[in-house]
Amino acid sequence: IEPARIALVTGANKGIGLEIARQLAEAGVTMIIGARDPDRGMAAVADLAAQGLEAEFVRLDLTDEAGIAAAAAEIATRHGRLDILVNNAGIVDEGDGPPSVATTRAVRRILETNFIGTLAVTQAMLPLLRRSAAGRIVNLSSSLGSLAGNGDPSSPYYAARLIGYNASKAALNMLTVQLSEELRDTRIAVNSVSPGFVKTDMTGLGFLTPEQGARLPVAFALQGEDAVSGRFVEASGETPW
Ligand code: NDP
Repeated sequence: IEPARIALVTGANKGIGLEIARQLAEAGVTMIIGARDPDRGMAAVADLAAQGLEAEFVRLDLTDEAGIAAAAAEIATRHGRLDILVNNAGIVDEGDGPPSVATTRAVRRILETNFIGTLAVTQAMLPLLRRSAAGRIVNLSSSLGSLAGNGDPSSPYYAARLIGYNASKAALNMLTVQLSEELRDTRIAVNSVSPGFVKTDMTGLGFLTPEQGARLPVAFALQGEDAVSGRFVEASGETPW
């Protein structure tokens, strides 16, 4: 019997992250719920327990590098390795908008969390992922981060005018491409996955339920031996970079 895979999902206390955690737990993965607020994190653990699913909590704030290092140390002590990292946590900011009006404060805050924070978590967890027989990193990106889409009048993403959020996901995609290439000779696969337009607290509206939005990220987290890496995908296929 193979040992259960160990997964960390950031921002797993609600929305798509909680659903990813639930579906991974259902698949028999040992779940670590990453959340910046202990009460919200423990509530998610209790929520899963009420559904008969086990999960652990680790405090993880993407803007707290010392805290991120502490979380990695805790996972190392508890498990000695990590098999799956789902970089799900992310924010929008009402000060974001078209390039002429978005506040620099909002743009800085979004990049700080969605890009720098995700980079910091990834760097901290990488030594643990290297100890896995098949490490999987899934970055929750967005088709709004497609540079091709943002610059193409015929693209469905053309009308989106959020320079901070879109830039943060384009930068996240750069992390996917470069890290995938850097890890080419390892057993770690890295991909950017768009969940689709999902109704959560972030969007307030959307076509998909979190349960539906979680499916593709989960599929990439559970990729087998022939895993693809360095891709940018959505449910309908590959997204142009
Ligand atoms: P939610 O707002 O519902 O959830 C976001 C999660 O991220 C929460 O758990 C939140 O924690 C956490 N978070 C925010 N900031 C931090 C931080 N500094 N440190 C740790 N955790 C943090 O959003 P969604 O579930 O909709 O989005 C999840 C991901 O999917 C995001 O990366 C988003 O950009 C991406 N995405 C979403 C789409 C959609 O249509 N919903 C479409 C495309 C991409 P807390 O509760 O403490 O605030």
